[in-house]
This record gives sequence, structure tokens and C-alpha cells, in this order.
Amino acid sequence: MDLNSLIRDVENFPKEGILFKDITPLLLDAKGLQESIDKMAEEVQDVDFDIVIGPESRGFIFGVPLAYKLQKGFVPVRKPGKLPYKTIGQSYDLEYGSNTIEMHIDAIKPGQKVIIVDDLLATGGTTKAIVDLIEKLGGEVVKIVYLIELEGLNGREILKGQNIVSLLKY
Ligand code: IMP
Repeated sequence: MDLNSLIRDVENFPKEGILFKDITPLLLDAKGLQESIDKMAEEVQDVDFDIVIGPESRGFIFGVPLAYKLQKGFVPVRKPGKLPYKTIGQSYDLEYGSNTIEMHIDAIKPGQKVIIVDDLLATGGTTKAIVDLIEKLGGEVVKIVYLIELEGLNGREILKGQNIVSLLKY
């Protein structure tokens, strides 16, 4: 099926001048949702890994069903102050200002192999911060899976050396 047709362009969201890729029509479509998870699973079925990790909130939407399907655990990456136990954080720059993300210090054990999942690759800043957190805990990123890649923003550059796959490219 054509997953492209289930992605809606929303102009000027969340700010003037931004064209936002809205995935909610895909989530609403039973076959579209199933096919996106199934295709992500195909992309990692031959990869040897221990854990799926994804950032809030749309990384949860794809990461948890993927982990369930592949019989792996899931690690949530969250905004500051949301995780209840001891955390480590990583800040990264945005076009204006910066962001911080956190995960639990015991989420990943040294030597574990991790797959990162998110809905969309834009500049790559979010994913790079997740890679840094995983590596701080001694984990190894073995593959990164996105539903959508905005190729014009060149997110692969900051993620050089990583094995990256996206189902849809714009
Ligand atoms: P990056 O850090 O610049 O690669 O931005 C990626 C993050 O921003 C992901 O977690 C996305 O969920 C979110 N994001 C950025 N642009 C869009 C968009 O057009 N649609 C949906 N999510 C977006």
C-alpha cells in the first residue's frame, strides 16, 4: 500500500514557515499502521540486537509495537523531569535554543546492542543526543529506523557512521 498517501502536510506548524509531516492519518489507518510496523520489523529482522529505544512521544508509538513484535524490551527517552528514577541527560542545540533529553541510568547495560526508532529524521539532533546517551552507558547503536526522512535537512551527516534506514523519504 502507498504509505505516502497517509502522511498529511500541515503548513506553518508548529511555527510560521514550517511544513509539518503529520503522521496521524497513517496511525488512524489500520493497514497503514500495521504495514509501517511490519516494514520496520523487516528492516531489522537480520540485525543482532537486545533493545529498542525511542524518544517521546512519537518514538513510543513505533518503538513499542516494534519491540513487542521482535520480542525485545523497550527503553523510553523523555523530556527532563519525566522519568521517576535516576537519569542521565544530554543537551543538544536547536535552531534557536537547546533541548535536553533523559533516560534511566540502568536502562542499558554495557555491551548491549540497541536499535533507535523514531517517526522522523530532520536535522538528526534528537537522534544524535540519543546515540550519545546510549554510548555513555556503554551500549552500542546497531541500527536506526525512521518512518520518515526529510532528506533536505541532511540529518545523516551528524549521524555519520550509523546504519540508518527510513521507510519514506521527502
Ligand atoms: P531532528 O532532531 O531535527 O532530527 O528532529 C526530529 C524530531 O523532531 C523527531 O523526534 C520528530 O518527531 C520531530 N519532528 C520534526 N519535524 C517533524 C515533522 O515534520 N513531523 C513530525 N515530527 C517532526
